[in-house]
Amino acid sequence: MAKPTPITAVKGFRDVLPEESARWRALEDAALRVFGRYGYGEIRVPVVERTELFARSLGETTDIVEKEMYSFADRDGTGLTLRPEATASVVRAYLDTGLANRDPQTRLAYRGPMFRRERPQKGRYRQFHQIGVELFGRDDALADAELLMMLMEYLAVVGARDTRLELNSLGDATCRPVYRERLRAFGEAHRAALCGDCLRRLERNPLRLLDCKVPGCRAVLAEAPLMRDSLCAACAEHFAAVRALLRAAGVAFTEAPRLVRGLDYYCRTAFEVVAGGLGAQNAVGGGGRYDGLVAALGGPDVAGIGFALGVERLAMATAPAAAAGPTVVTVLPLEERAVEAAFRLAAGLRAADLAVVVEAPGRSLKALLRTADRRGARLAVLLGADELAAGRATVRDLVAHADRKGALPLDGTPAALAASVRALLAGPAGT
Ligand code: AMP
Repeated sequence: MAKPTPITAVKGFRDVLPEESARWRALEDAALRVFGRYGYGEIRVPVVERTELFARSLGETTDIVEKEMYSFADRDGTGLTLRPEATASVVRAYLDTGLANRDPQTRLAYRGPMFRRERPQKGRYRQFHQIGVELFGRDDALADAELLMMLMEYLAVVGARDTRLELNSLGDATCRPVYRERLRAFGEAHRAALCGDCLRRLERNPLRLLDCKVPGCRAVLAEAPLMRDSLCAACAEHFAAVRALLRAAGVAFTEAPRLVRGLDYYCRTAFEVVAGGLGAQNAVGGGGRYDGLVAALGGPDVAGIGFALGVERLAMATAPAAAAGPTVVTVLPLEERAVEAAFRLAAGLRAADLAVVVEAPGRSLKALLRTADRRGARLAVLLGADELAAGRATVRDLVAHADRKGALPLDGTPAALAASVRALLAGPAGT
């Protein structure tokens, strides 16, 4: 029979191995801890939603909805989509679960996988992971400033390198339509120099012209009118108040008058955080205010603001934490007879909060020790005929290369085992 060919992961989807997932966990734990100090609790929303949710929330003209969603028909014909982001789901849950009525001013944090059929490259995947927050029911500048303060505090806590907060205001329903028309008129006047995508954006969503990465378009748009100069009095005042509060709190930022968010529902405060060492995909996170979204999804007229951070990029932007994992112990039954005692001893050691692996007997001691070493084991517990007879195991310190005969009682309580192991790790090695 022909040897079956191995099945590989789908393009843009990847596996996260233990070392990397330990870092992700640390990043997620720190996020929930820091956000918790600001009153955010974790919400877990489904990975699949009705396609309509994203079509309505993100807008039909966004890249995500136009070409990046993993959508499929359920067996009963319902249109479903793997979530490309979580804000829409969190808003849906806020309405669906009655939170909007019970507790209109709600702070929620989330983490989990998102799916977008983008062109994969370093730092850009088709399944990626985000940590984010949403704050409902606040439309004041203090809410924006506090959210940004929390974001930057988190990035400092996890040690993200060379971060820069870029800040803009996108105006609101009063002033943005006026600006959009000014920008459209500017684009029309420069049609000949724009790329095909921009010509389409011109018709459907002119703000996205500012997002274009094509050098020709960028050169033209360098001269384009800016939202900053078209803000209505209320938006200008809100933006000024956010900046003043950030300055007062010592949160550094730069103004980014060309920053627009890809998603249609943002208004007023919009921001992105870029970090060093990430290459072309240097945004670790972004977000902004979306005051019309809850109402657009059938809820009350409640304001909202939030952000999302990319976990893959956070991991690249932060130094790996010092490996402070548990002490690893390998238990080596040197003959078949010792397996049962090895099992019991391992259970006792685990109850003492040590990470324990029991090897199968049958290989040479040298080979077993080499495996233990490769696993990063600090101690090897040897169980041969002598140890069984004495009722005490020998412990080899794999770093100090020293044996302690009879160091561990085979029938010790977890507390006694933990004490013996601590003494072994602390004391001078001998035989
Ligand atoms: P967005 O939801 O587009 O505002 O993205 C927020 C953050 O999620 C970005 O700043 C990235 O860090 C991360 N992100 C977005 N798309 C991807 C992707 N395809 N692969 C990896 N990370 C992503």
